[in-house]
Amino acid sequence: KSGFITIIGRPNVGKSTFLNYVIGQKIAIMSDKAQTTRNKIQGVLTTDDAQMIFIDTPGIHKPKHRLGDFMMKVATNTLNEVDLVLFMVNAEEEYGKGESFIIEKLKEVNTPVFLVINKIDLVHPDHLLSIISSYKEVYDFAEIVPISAVQGNNVENLLATIRRYL
Ligand code: GDP
Ligand code: MG
Repeated sequence: KSGFITIIGRPNVGKSTFLNYVIGQKIAIMSDKAQTTRNKIQGVLTTDDAQMIFIDTPGIHKPKHRLGDFMMKVATNTLNEVDLVLFMVNAEEEYGKGESFIIEKLKEVNTPVFLVINKIDLVHPDHLLSIISSYKEVYDFAEIVPISAVQGNNVENLLATIRRYL
């Protein structure tokens, strides 16, 4: 099994931390010019039975300048071309404007979307449950998976779930 995956989400939710954790020393291609090139490969995770190719989606953020519309188009196209989208959010933060902007874009996308709730090491389980229910109200996610990218909690389960969608 092999497939293309993109991780989207607001700055600082833990996207890079997650990629570094799962790919670790097996990094095939890594670049920091994240905002400049379309469909850049960030890393490839190869296991016994699957290959996961992580690619960058530039421009999935609130447009602040006149390139905004163009970049949004690039972002939406990218999301439609991959096999799976991981929408990562910070468990500490309530659902807000930044998240709802991305959710609106996801409504134009046909690819399955996972909600990955990161930083669960920082919140009480009750808080996690309330976040899950607020996201369930706004979008029909294919899967909702809480993790801690720093501690590695539930990351193996997320990878196993991803494998089922490739
Ligand atoms: P990105 O902007 O989405 O790529 O976010 P980063 O991966 O750069 O992470 C932003 C900050 O959040 C860094 O200081 C990370 O160490 C921290 N962080 C990422 N994942 C976790 C997590 O699961 N738990 C905690 N406590 N901190 C995290
Ligand atoms: Mg990053």
